[in-house]
Amino acid sequence: MIKKSFDIDLAINRIRTAVESLPKAALFELYAEGFTSPFELLAACMISIRTFDEVMLPTARRLFARARTPEAVSRLALAELRELIRASTFYERKAEQILALARRVAEEYGGELPCDPAVLLSFDGVGPKCANLVLGIACGQARIGVDIHVHRITNRWGYVKASTPEKTMVALEAKLPEPYWVEINRLLVPFGKHICTGQRPRCSTCPLIEMCQQVGVTAHR
Ligand code: SF4
Repeated sequence: MIKKSFDIDLAINRIRTAVESLPKAALFELYAEGFTSPFELLAACMISIRTFDEVMLPTARRLFARARTPEAVSRLALAELRELIRASTFYERKAEQILALARRVAEEYGGELPCDPAVLLSFDGVGPKCANLVLGIACGQARIGVDIHVHRITNRWGYVKASTPEKTMVALEAKLPEPYWVEINRLLVPFGKHICTGQRPRCSTCPLIEMCQQVGVTAHR
């Protein structure tokens, strides 16, 4: 098949339609449920590291039902916090990190986590993906949250060529139109779970087949 050149506007429009009926990306789902503070979304993102969304979502809801402000979380005993997030991978380390986050936000920032990338990245356990997702979703800033789905899919398209999520983030910042910076994660998480999957993506029914370069795709459905 002769491929058309990749049209990002058309691609975004088609993906919006394709993911309409699919479950939302986890942090966007929590935001829609009313967990809208930067602290809540950062804690949830920390819980999500190496943990399936299907596990992270009930774990974050369980934690927030018990404590959802930095002050409330900082008053939890480490053992209770561990127990609350026990379903998450590396829960012991994450409990320490979330407790340290809550204490510092309560003590140094008056209970409000600032929408400042340098502050977010200064916490143990917070990398560029979580920082950008929080800044994009909770703070309304133009930020690209590059997780494994955004990295894999934009490279398969041939839209960027980068070996790590961090490099993909830099490449997308140089190329992706800014109005899509927050939305791309919201779209590509469900698109990556159900259509452009890690193994054997569903190319034969994909709405982008005529323009996607399918870079690195050796087997598909
Ligand atoms: S054509 Fe295949 S590789 Fe390209 S976006 Fe669609 S599912 Fe992914």
